[in-house]
Amino acid sequence: MNVPTSRKSLRDLGEFGLIDRLVRSGCGDGEGVVLGVGDDCAVIDDGAEQRLLLTTDLMAEGVHFLSSADPVKLGDKLLAVNLSDVAAMGGEPRHAVVALAVPEALDVSFLDGVYRGLRRRAARHGVTIVGGDTTASRSGLVMSITLTGRVEPDRVMRRDGACAGDHILISGAIGDSAAGLSLRTSVLGKTRDAGLEQADVDYLLARHDTPEPRVYLGRALAVDGEVSAAIDLSDGLASDLRHICQRSGTGAVVHVDRLPLSSPLRRCAASIAADARVFATCGGEDYELCITAAPGAVARLKRRAEQVGMDLTDVGEIVDGSELRWQDHDGERFEPSGGWDHFSSSDSV
Ligand SMILES: [Mg+2]
Repeated sequence: MNVPTSRKSLRDLGEFGLIDRLVRSGCGDGEGVVLGVGDDCAVIDDGAEQRLLLTTDLMAEGVHFLSSADPVKLGDKLLAVNLSDVAAMGGEPRHAVVALAVPEALDVSFLDGVYRGLRRRAARHGVTIVGGDTTASRSGLVMSITLTGRVEPDRVMRRDGACAGDHILISGAIGDSAAGLSLRTSVLGKTRDAGLEQADVDYLLARHDTPEPRVYLGRALAVDGEVSAAIDLSDGLASDLRHICQRSGTGAVVHVDRLPLSSPLRRCAASIAADARVFATCGGEDYELCITAAPGAVARLKRRAEQVGMDLTDVGEIVDGSELRWQDHDGERFEPSGGWDHFSSSDSV
């Protein structure tokens, strides 16, 4: 391995700094590439009637999960996070390959469980697992999926089409997954004895362990071609909305009092005197969709969402400039402390 002349670590660069560096070193626009790096999926024109979508996601023990995790739920989530990227592009998922780096001492029944979860999730979305690769790991278990999808050329939802005046809409509720993660680690664990109902705990943990990728919603929203930009909320609204703004060359105003917060999240935050809006803006792994659309299309898109059993909440507007402004109903500024960055997080499991 060549040692880079500037000795920077992942910790120095951060996840997005590392991605920028790797992209600059040689990711090109080859033949058939409609959209390369910088969106939820690559979009390829391979000569078929529909565009090919391509995405990959990786989960590493100690970073994304603990060895004590439920393997069936892990397998489910491993595919779900990939499905979420296809959903964000308006696509229909198709085929997956699975790569595993496995500690030699790992009980293979753990992997049997992972595959049970994988198969169950794949069956729900018509995905066929068509191969993969395995190798030994000298540290923890590492699992990766590469997933394909298909989408009509005029229905591709991408990050770079937001325009000033567009509204910002979010599906479902956000912040639950971060609260579930906090319950699993130490921050909120103590509150179980402080009045938090078991049903709330179970709900928040489930939202973290088995997120529901919004594949049907993504398809429904893409139908009319009225979504100007879209992203799935994997790293947290503060981080993911910034991706839309950066790619679109815009700013945004978010009204934090309008953020869709579930009742369990509100009760959970109240039980530790925390601000639920912090979970909703800074917490990752909700896998809801964030879209933008012209004001005249909002009602139609909300109806489309209702047809697949989902709510869309209008949380703000795209504006000129590059600033993301977060404010409450009095116009007071709210400062999210940023999104999820896997290389600088200390408690990302
Ligand atoms: Mg994504």
